[in-house]
Amino acid sequence: RAKAEGKNIYRVYNQAWDSRSERKMLLEKELHKALLKEEFILHYQPQIDLATGEMVGAEALIRWSHPRMGLISPGEFIPLAEETGLIVPIGEWVIKEACLQARKWREAGLPPIGIAVNISPRQFNKPDLVETILGIIEQTNADPRYLELEITESVAMFDTEQVMEKLDKLKSRGIPIAMDDFGTGYSSLSYLKKLPIDKLKIDRSFLVEVTPENANDNASIVAAIISLARNLNLRVIAEGVENAEQLEFLKAHRCDEGQGYYFQRPVPSEELEKLLQKRAAG
Ligand code: C2E
Ligand code: MG
Ligand code: MG
Ligand code: MG
Repeated sequence: RAKAEGKNIYRVYNQAWDSRSERKMLLEKELHKALLKEEFILHYQPQIDLATGEMVGAEALIRWSHPRMGLISPGEFIPLAEETGLIVPIGEWVIKEACLQARKWREAGLPPIGIAVNISPRQFNKPDLVETILGIIEQTNADPRYLELEITESVAMFDTEQVMEKLDKLKSRGIPIAMDDFGTGYSSLSYLKKLPIDKLKIDRSFLVEVTPENANDNASIVAAIISLARNLNLRVIAEGVENAEQLEFLKAHRCDEGQGYYFQRPVPSEELEKLLQKRAAG
């Protein structure tokens, strides 16, 4: 009897750990099948030109809806996909889906906007990344000027020559490149100058508590990134704009664009289409 109790105690101690690793294993198993079972969709979050108030772009954000487990956030499954290498086929699906969607909107006569897709480090580091992307563009008859790639500082940190070569090739085909989550990584400023990128995305953690009146550290950082971008001739967009105070601050500092819940949450393609129709109507 004592032995049985001991076993129960052991089980209780390990339950938290067990259920975490069990969920991870389950997710990994399900992730392998998710593409074939067509469980992914893209949502789109508008990017707003702060001078005109017009939507000028949208970021494609992947969503996984599992029939039994429900909605699983990319914050949970993208790292797993990255770890297992599944990010490569998933990432290709994202690019293709975004290009097909952009073509549908174009064929419907809607105003063209840039569609930004996230490229994970492992995906970027594949030797055939450029050929894959150019292949998808050709196959879907997409306009490369409206397919923006978001990379992070961790991509830019390693193997500078190869990174530079890939970015140069993409750039020469007219594909814009944005540096996502800027300010949270380790890329050096001199490297930033050399990279053929078009846009900095200020990480949303820096927007917290930014107001026109509040002279706090975050406000200084945001102002510094905006002026850095301007001096390097890069466009700059703030992520995570959640209120009017942040927007006022960004406008006062002449930040080019904003993206965040204050404007719009990420929405399904049908809803973005309605926004595009509204824009087309004037
Ligand atoms: P990210 O690329 O930095 O995308 C922005 C994230 O911030 C999105 O979260 C978006 O929903 C969220 N967000 C936007 N506005 C606000 C706001 O005002 N307040 C707050 N609190 N959050 C806001 P989401 O969709 O959960 O995606 C999380 C991350 O997952 C993305 O961060 C990106 O790193 C990754 N991810 C999403 N889709 C893809 C994809 O297709 N491929 C890859 N490789 N990564 C993706
Ligand atoms: Mg992004
Ligand atoms: Mg980001
Ligand atoms: Mg982020």
